[in-house]
Amino acid sequence: LLTNGRVLITGGAGFIGSNFIPYFLEKNPNVKVVNLDKITYAGNLNNLDEINTHSNYTFIKGDICDYPLINKLFEDFNINGVINFAAESHVDNSIDSPSPFIKTNIEGTFNLLEVARKHWKEKEYRFHHISTDEVYGSLPKEGYFTEHSNYQPNSPYSASKASSDFLVRSYHHTYGMNVVTSNCSNNYGPKQHDEKLIPTIIRSAIQGMSIPIYGNGKNIRDWLFVKDHCIGIDKIYMQGVPGETYLLGGNNEYDNLTIATKLCEILDSKIPNVKGSYLNQIEFVQDRLGHDFRYAIDSSKISNQLGWKAFENFESGLEKTVDWYLNKYQS
Ligand code: NAD
Repeated sequence: LLTNGRVLITGGAGFIGSNFIPYFLEKNPNVKVVNLDKITYAGNLNNLDEINTHSNYTFIKGDICDYPLINKLFEDFNINGVINFAAESHVDNSIDSPSPFIKTNIEGTFNLLEVARKHWKEKEYRFHHISTDEVYGSLPKEGYFTEHSNYQPNSPYSASKASSDFLVRSYHHTYGMNVVTSNCSNNYGPKQHDEKLIPTIIRSAIQGMSIPIYGNGKNIRDWLFVKDHCIGIDKIYMQGVPGETYLLGGNNEYDNLTIATKLCEILDSKIPNVKGSYLNQIEFVQDRLGHDFRYAIDSSKISNQLGWKAFENFESGLEKTVDWYLNKYQS
């Protein structure tokens, strides 16, 4: 049974994984978690300090592309669940250097599926693949992505995630494996790597540097507080229908300039800027190549079928996020 299973969580030292594992362990006191993470530049074990000594938690440093290692973990821990967060996740890096994205996101996912296929025959098990709304490409001003939207990935990152989604899908249709996939909008919250938009804005602001905003700042993303994503992942992992995909979004559509403006205003209210306002530090920089215009999600399927909805209000979520980074950057 999944509620007292042994789950291999990959990429658990990254942003979402390190928010998810503590929540998942607390929510499911009989589940054992093995966190397999390569600790690339994006992984940070300090993000897991709160559960380091938890009796149901084991950390293994390693690569999801390493078949013998995964195979051994399945044997040693009698793994009956996988939640696959491990990925190269930064679009800009995928534009500069796509190769690691192909390796980890595609080959790594394939590798996990292959080991699972070998081990899981008649047992109760689950393979949950974590993915992104970026696989659906770019929306115009109107409309939303749904589970029926066409895949139209535009960056090497989203193309690699789309490929992994297809592999997962195929293991259900071909081998009958018990897989679920979730595609989520942009997450925000504590523990995100410095390279991403919101940490970059906060850090640049308080360090008195220019706050870089791509193009004209009009690209729109939907933002979901990471804790809400974690609640959704737990629900999908435990209750999702095998072979199904679920989309999660926060109903918080904002363009990048608005995000920067909101963050600067929160910062102004917390640490007054001697030169006036952090807003003066915003600077438009050359746009990202192939920058998708808009992503937005219709979450009605997961809401109707699994009773999930985003709880966090965007303003309070941003404030919590700012507080977390201020604590990090100022200590
Ligand atoms: P992240 O970059 O913060 O973390 C990725 C983690 O994976 C890191 O700890 C890294 O060390 C690990 N990793 C990388 N390559 C590995 C490998 N070969 N073997 C083992 N571990 C490896 O990413 P994130 O933001 O936490 O995203 C997690 C997942 O969620 C990704 O699959 C991403 O595509 C997806 N996702 C992210 C967002 C978002 O807004 N951050 C939104 C939707 C979906």
